[in-house]
Amino acid sequence: MFWRRHKKVAVVLTCADWRLHHSRVDMNRRLARKLKVYGADVIAVPGPDGLILAARKSEWQSALDQIKLLIGAHHPAALAVVAHQRCAGHPVSDDEHVTDVAKTARMLKEQTGFAGPVAAVVAVYHSDAKWDFNTIETV
Ligand SMILES: [Zn+2]
Repeated sequence: MFWRRHKKVAVVLTCADWRLHHSRVDMNRRLARKLKVYGADVIAVPGPDGLILAARKSEWQSALDQIKLLIGAHHPAALAVVAHQRCAGHPVSDDEHVTDVAKTARMLKEQTGFAGPVAAVVAVYHSDAKWDFNTIETV
């Protein structure tokens, strides 16, 4: 039944920061294109790449539970972690965002047992409504 063909989706762990969710940024559609899917389920927490910190273990666990639920429900083709520069939730240097988002993506891959690609992405700041999404690595 081609008219009911399942649309491929991704599950994205990103920051709660309003700037990323501004309509002009068009994050969902751009990430979907990058991940070669139709749309992305979004879990937003302040500073997602900071969830690797021991102090945020319980927050990590709840994000992980939400992601696992969506994996089970929507059978995504890909996962992604999207960190961003100038993040209040994880206020580190641009270089540290690059290393931390890669660590977060690896941790997500390990702890979900997800078989598909898990992308580590950093949103690069140009203005509040203008960001580039750079893929750091895919694990
Ligand atoms: Zn942020």
